[in-house]
Amino acid sequence: MHEWALAEGVVSTATRIAEEQELKEITEITVRIGELQQIDREILEFALDQQRTPLMRNAKFTLESIPAKLRCRVCGEEWRFSPDDLGEEISEAIHFVPEMAHVYLKCPRCGSPDFEVVEGRGVWLASIKGVKDGG
Ligand SMILES: [Zn+2]
Repeated sequence: MHEWALAEGVVSTATRIAEEQELKEITEITVRIGELQQIDREILEFALDQQRTPLMRNAKFTLESIPAKLRCRVCGEEWRFSPDDLGEEISEAIHFVPEMAHVYLKCPRCGSPDFEVVEGRGVWLASIKGVKDGG
């Protein structure tokens, strides 16, 4: 259940930022999810909701998917890729085992299957909105 740990990280980061910015209330929390991250969005949303603190009791959680960005190790070409472009079966294989991407994907410029994932993994806090204290 790593969604719970990820949600905990988002909540604690949001809390820290709110303290730094002296917010008395958080109204919106935007979370970005790399498309190669193996995650169940519904569980993550549920986990975020369950871990709300009083500071964010009315906050809206917005989850954004970030397409993977890949870089060819041979020619340096960078390209964006969404597992959904490949059809459901392959998409699921890649979500489940991101390393499987190498079986299905090739550099659009030179055709090499030797690439690295530059973006597209992880879950992170993108931004928070809130109300300042004493305003
Ligand atoms: Zn290439």
